[in-house]
Amino acid sequence: MAKQQWRTDPREALKAGPDFDLAAFDRNGQPGWEGDRDGGEEYMARRGEEMSELQERLFAEGRSGGNRSVLLVLQGLDTAGKGGIVRHVMGMVDPQGVKLASFGVPTPEEREHHYLWRIEKQLPPPGRIGVFDRSHYEDVLVVRVDELVPREVWSGRYDEINAWEQKVIESGTTLVKVALMVSYDEQGARLMERLERPDKYWKFSPGDIDTRSKWPAFQEAYADVFARTSTEQAPWYVVPADKKWYARLAVTEILTRTLEDLDPTWPPATFDVAEMRAALQETIDHPA
Ligand code: ADP
Repeated sequence: MAKQQWRTDPREALKAGPDFDLAAFDRNGQPGWEGDRDGGEEYMARRGEEMSELQERLFAEGRSGGNRSVLLVLQGLDTAGKGGIVRHVMGMVDPQGVKLASFGVPTPEEREHHYLWRIEKQLPPPGRIGVFDRSHYEDVLVVRVDELVPREVWSGRYDEINAWEQKVIESGTTLVKVALMVSYDEQGARLMERLERPDKYWKFSPGDIDTRSKWPAFQEAYADVFARTSTEQAPWYVVPADKKWYARLAVTEILTRTLEDLDPTWPPATFDVAEMRAALQETIDHPA
């Protein structure tokens, strides 16, 4: 079998540019990846080890006064595989270096504040990889589709989100925005599986069918998110999600390449290494 590899950087292959057309997007595709599932899984495991070392370096940098962090924003409709990304991709790195936050229906307290209030509180501290399982984008997705606020309110949020993200970037956080796009048919099959397997019932809620029935409105809302908030500094990566192995492989690669670009370095010692070595040797040679 020919070499299995990324023919194109997935950050290029998956970036939503100005001409991005969600309606024409192949949700069963594997853009940029030249290979099959087995090759992809093997490649992902190897890259996971590299990602893990890079993450440890970023963590060490954060412990030593660095201010950089990474934030993975995960969006996608029910069954798109957000949980699988958290488990299988983030599961490859030390959990101490990861800060995970999930955003569901706002609590009464959250509702009393601006929609970015609860989001801001969960930004990753220096050295960490933050993961948002849903995010502030729900405030222009479900909120728009379900008309939870009037149009004049949600329509102002795209610019507001861009400006807020710009500030987050300036504070040292690299944003990686990933939208997992599952097809209508595949979502139907995945929801049906949840109703056929007792070990999956817990993942199902009756509201999932209601949301599914608004599919076209959600697609339109997602298309606007990509058109209006895929910026140069914080682009959207739109990931086909019908092949779970591809989505996980692609997110692993995007994160690993992002960390490679940050190139965190091991912090130098803040003490005299030779002196400390001699002092330790002394305790080995002459036990207390
Ligand atoms: P999941 O379905 O991802 O497993 P939960 O059941 O905890 O997670 O809740 C997610 C639900 O919360 C989704 O239906 C989502 O649309 C909703 N949600 C998230 N953010 C908001 C928001 N800002 N306003 C209203 N609903 C929201």
